Amino acid sequence: MKHFGKALVSLGAFLLVSCGGATSVSDAPTTVAPVETIEWTLVTTWPKNLPALGTAPENLAKLVDTMSNGRLKIRVYGDQELVPAFEVFDAVSSGTAQMGHGAAYYWRGKLPIAAIFSSVPFGMNAQEMNGWLHHGGGMALWEELYAPFDLIPLASGNSGVQMAGWFNKEINSVTDLEGLKMRIPGLGGEVMQRAGAVAVAMPGSEIFTSLQTGAIDATEWVGPYNDLAFGLHDVAKYYYYPGWHEPGTTLEAIVNRQAFDALTPDLQAIVRTATRAINQDMLDEFTARNNAALQTLVDEHGVELRRLPDDVLERLRDVAWDVIGESATDELSKRILASYVDFLGNVQAYHDISERAYIEARDPARR
Ligand code: CA
Repeated sequence: MKHFGKALVSLGAFLLVSCGGATSVSDAPTTVAPVETIEWTLVTTWPKNLPALGTAPENLAKLVDTMSNGRLKIRVYGDQELVPAFEVFDAVSSGTAQMGHGAAYYWRGKLPIAAIFSSVPFGMNAQEMNGWLHHGGGMALWEELYAPFDLIPLASGNSGVQMAGWFNKEINSVTDLEGLKMRIPGLGGEVMQRAGAVAVAMPGSEIFTSLQTGAIDATEWVGPYNDLAFGLHDVAKYYYYPGWHEPGTTLEAIVNRQAFDALTPDLQAIVRTATRAINQDMLDEFTARNNAALQTLVDEHGVELRRLPDDVLERLRDVAWDVIGESATDELSKRILASYVDFLGNVQAYHDISERAYIEARDPARR
């Protein structure tokens, strides 16, 4: 073996010398084209570097840079840096920016059914949403919905089940919802409105001050990890669960169609693959961080953690599917809703005997 090893070393040395001596190759005229660097602008609906939601597009940009060996560089702008949060859709649609990151329910004003692609009250959780989008026909429908706007949607993060939110008024029964001014976007907001509350839509950057000044009585945001970073415990007393309105919110990346079509196939695959990786990574981050953040909120900041009463959840559930059904006003919207409801029905039946049965089996006290 020793001799064999020596022979290999000798052979390696011989090859190195041979290559070094092959000057004829380097003397040949170079025909390799210089590598083109493409620069994209990405606008987000999030404050810059907000944990998970805001860092996801930053991580996406780094991943695309590395995977493309620097051929596609994405510069990320937070809410207000280039455009306000709620103008991200139009900015990418018009080509002002090549890419955006946000949530589909922010576009409910122009596309009522879009909210389904972020989260549906009492609908699918994160695992189920990912299953529907990527293997249940959801992505094709989402692409069809955004096509007239020259936008390609991509799932790009998931919060998992959110918290019901921060309240400065106790919610002890359905009557406490009457006149409650709450920041809550999307379908959840309309359900709250239908249940008697006053739903207000505003980007994350305005929540703290609005709650502090009493302009709103309550707000939902995300979950402990994000809410702690936002400091919402400083301006609200009660922290309610569960997040019935956002049981597994998908965040979206949107790409301008012309910008995407101009990429080579390998760069297109990199954008899609990196976005899919970020989609899973955000859920993993929330799973790892939420619990510790909740303990900090309760133990160090004295937050009062409360469960929404059953009759309140029942009232919200009763009106939820009416509101969702009313979003389907045209043929495509009806197909999207039918696909969602069909998948939910089937996956729910299976999850009853898999995920739920397992969690109960793991700890019978939680049954
Ligand atoms: Ca939320």
